Amino acid sequence: AAKAAGRGRYRRFTADLDTNAHKRRSIEVDLHNAVKNGEFELYFQPLFNLAKNRFSAFEALIRWNHPKKGLVSPVDFIPVAEDTGLIVPIGEWVLKEACRQAATWPEDIRVAVNFSTVQFAQSGLVNMVFQTLATSGLAPDRLEIEITESLFLENTGSVREVLHGLKNVGVRIALDDFGTGFSSLSYLRKFPFDKIKIDRSFIIELLQEDEAGAVVKAITDLAAALHMETTAEGVEEPEQVEALRAFGCTTLQGYLFSKPIPASEAAKLVNGEAAAELRA
Ligand code: C2E
Ligand code: MG
Ligand code: MG
Ligand code: MG
Repeated sequence: AAKAAGRGRYRRFTADLDTNAHKRRSIEVDLHNAVKNGEFELYFQPLFNLAKNRFSAFEALIRWNHPKKGLVSPVDFIPVAEDTGLIVPIGEWVLKEACRQAATWPEDIRVAVNFSTVQFAQSGLVNMVFQTLATSGLAPDRLEIEITESLFLENTGSVREVLHGLKNVGVRIALDDFGTGFSSLSYLRKFPFDKIKIDRSFIIELLQEDEAGAVVKAITDLAAALHMETTAEGVEEPEQVEALRAFGCTTLQGYLFSKPIPASEAAKLVNGEAAAELRA
């Protein structure tokens, strides 16, 4: 009986592999068309600044409106885009569109854009960012580029050169999903980060485990000592806000404030706030 059950498990396992491989292959084919036909859209999620008591930035998050499947999550297609190299044209489109939208917002609102590690292998990256900013008219310090710790698995010499090149253009650099990778504290001193984004997993634990607070506080203290800002990702509960405020976290992001929203709604949100301030 045990043997039969084992065989059943094995069959299920190989069947899963088949569907996964099939799923991936179909995403790959469709992704080429998506780039050609412009099936992507950017959503924007606001970041709440605790000191200013208002939204101070939006993170651009890509959405794929698949003609048959509907909305496909970036979690499902970004890895495929990275493996196929399609992340390069997709990333360029994301940056252009994010800058174009941000240029219509009030000047004290920034835009954050996720960059894949694969994009850093492109020799013209710094120049592409420079050109895109120039074309959109967006001030460089209104753009924050989000990278992840996986970047440090790459050749650190050239990664460092590109990061410094981006700093020279005048953009900000944020370290995304901090604490989930193979974080080495030495990177925090070697690279010119403006911000650390504390991963959602730590924020969830904040209300569940006593020690989670100690980790989050240690990260915010360290960031402050290195003159870096901190954003807490995935804030969903009011109790988390009070804890994060006490720790000295600079900005908060999460469903408690807003889910990612279409560009038109983001523009309404910030322009509406600006209008309210003018009236006051
Ligand atoms: P990320 O950069 O860490 O973005 C934050 C993700 O957390 C977003 O998922 C956002 O919708 C989600 N999130 C925000 N607040 C909450 C919350 O309170 N609760 C929960 N459960 N989730 C929350 P999304 O939009 O599905 O994106 C997933 C990931 O895909 C991103 O993680 C990023 O790594 C990648 N991604 C998205 N857009 C792009 C892009 O334009 N370029 C690249 N290279 N990667 C992207
Ligand atoms: Mg991000
Ligand atoms: Mg993140
Ligand atoms: Mg995250």
